[in-house]
Amino acid sequence: MTTGALGQKIARRIRAEGPLSVAAYMAMALHDPDEGYYARCHPIGAQGDFITAPEISQVFGELIGLWCAVVWGELGRPDPVILAELGPGRGELMSDLLRAAARVPDFRRALRLHLVEASAPLRTEQQRRLAQFEPIWVSRPEDLPDGPMLLVANEFLDALSVRQFVRRGTDWSERLVALDGEDRFVFVEGPPSPAARLLVPEALRDTAAQGAVIEICPAAVGLAAALGARFSDQPGAALFIDYGYWSSTPGPTLRALRRHRAVSELAAPGTADLSVHVDFLAFTDAARAGGAEVYGPVPQGRLLAALGARERVVALGARATPSQQRAIDSGVERLLDPGGMGTLFKAVAMISPGLATPPGFERGR
Ligand code: SAH
Repeated sequence: MTTGALGQKIARRIRAEGPLSVAAYMAMALHDPDEGYYARCHPIGAQGDFITAPEISQVFGELIGLWCAVVWGELGRPDPVILAELGPGRGELMSDLLRAAARVPDFRRALRLHLVEASAPLRTEQQRRLAQFEPIWVSRPEDLPDGPMLLVANEFLDALSVRQFVRRGTDWSERLVALDGEDRFVFVEGPPSPAARLLVPEALRDTAAQGAVIEICPAAVGLAAALGARFSDQPGAALFIDYGYWSSTPGPTLRALRRHRAVSELAAPGTADLSVHVDFLAFTDAARAGGAEVYGPVPQGRLLAALGARERVVALGARATPSQQRAIDSGVERLLDPGGMGTLFKAVAMISPGLATPPGFERGR
């Protein structure tokens, strides 16, 4: 039996329409307006289901704030400038970013804060933390107004829905979510189809192993292409940080997390976070094709170290008690850890053509 009100709703849709694509299942599980995970849950932090970099250390958002201020200078100090964040979570990154940005008063005065957020409970938390900056909320990136823009996004792309395809012989079929004889959700394979084959990246169509599962993320690719086109036309830059891969085929990366533990992706939709690894090759190719200059991916640890993470720890330490100092040290070391978050997470920048390399993306560092 499927559990929960959302499980029942998804099951009814499958009985009426047939198996759902993995993308449609993910979209309902995360964003159903009544029962979806982001509509109901407080996902982030020690009490939630997962923890993110800005929750681990204030230094993360501060360094991104300085990055924005430098790139704003490079864009010709536009005033006003849209400062946008995709998926701001609890607003921690943005409040740290704005505190650091206050050190460049002209930038602080010029920026107009825009938050792209689908979740009502998280909008409430963002409002609580960021009200003094008079944010404007929109639901989708394409609803951001025109004009010079700086955009940041941490762990946003990994929440976007993916489609999955399976190789059988020379054919490919879409992986779908269906109901088994006992009304439990199960993965099945749709019929082999030329359309499915065409959606698989060309390099993998005939080289992936038999039975291999690959993922594509139309929403991430569409976003990259749209931002690329925007930045070729209007001054702007974006910084994305996420976990993901580069031109490898890791198999299905869709995972479910509840209270910091992995659970079944299909067991109780709406009660666990669903996320995927980002295909940075597809993402950067689309941004470049759109017309932006693209840098990275570089490992998060390398970016943060180049932006001065350790210097910031020393500066904060001057005013900290010994136990605060230990907490600051261990938070930053966790973000830099080459055996952990420092390499698992990667950063990509896109920027209007003809400008200097954004800080932290210089070659050979
Ligand atoms: N950036 C934050 C939160 C990451 S969690 C941090 O680093 O802590 C993902 C965020 O993206 C949440 O705020 C979630 O509500 C939002 N989100 C996920 N999918 C979305 C979508 N399709 N449209 C808009 N916001 C989305």
